[in-house]
Amino acid sequence: MNVGKLGKCISGRRDMTSPLDKTFPTRHSAFMAFEPESISPLDSLWREYARAFQEWDDLTLGRWLAKTLGQLEGRAWRLSHPLVGAYRIAAQIAHEKQIWFKRLVTPPAAYAESPCCRAPFLPLLTRDVRESGLICQHCSETLVSFEEIPAGIRAEIETWARQYEPIHAVAHWDDRQRKRAGNYDAAYENAAEQAEQLLARAGKDLAPKLLDSYAAAIWEDQDECLEVRPEDVPV
Ligand SMILES: [Zn+2]
Repeated sequence: MNVGKLGKCISGRRDMTSPLDKTFPTRHSAFMAFEPESISPLDSLWREYARAFQEWDDLTLGRWLAKTLGQLEGRAWRLSHPLVGAYRIAAQIAHEKQIWFKRLVTPPAAYAESPCCRAPFLPLLTRDVRESGLICQHCSETLVSFEEIPAGIRAEIETWARQYEPIHAVAHWDDRQRKRAGNYDAAYENAAEQAEQLLARAGKDLAPKLLDSYAAAIWEDQDECLEVRPEDVPV
């Protein structure tokens, strides 16, 4: 797992070596191993949250994950949902402890085994899907490459991601681009509003269609660079 490194969104692109390590808490994973000088207050908070799960023995952790997967099954979830947040913390600890490799527990039958880390298949849809595919919530690697996304939904996701890219890029415009826009604040605000609509579409239209192929799915409901928060994205 890529911990201890904050993958910043640079020029509209996330650092692909750590797609989930962000300064925003809901997609954050850098709360276990770390470089002391890089700890932000948010890192500390998430590390504190994680402590509750770290105290559990392997079997308890495995059982909790399997049970929670049963509760996640059949729905597309916001990344910001507290149940998803709790699951992701536990899942990353389980990944470090190799709970799924040890086959201590059996996940619900609807979940296939992930090729990346043998954990149950739980994909995350993000705006970077064309580049990084669907992301594994256990090991943070690519779970399904973009090309492997079922064809029926892939075209729709591609259209959506292509629409989103130039909008997200507004947050990363250089001085020259900002000057050319005249009123950058207005351009930024406009981009944020468009991002809210695109994220809502991901939650309403795209993520539910992933359920045709996967037992459960998660969609990113925020854009930290455009300052779009989950509560700005109604579905
Ligand atoms: Zn994985």
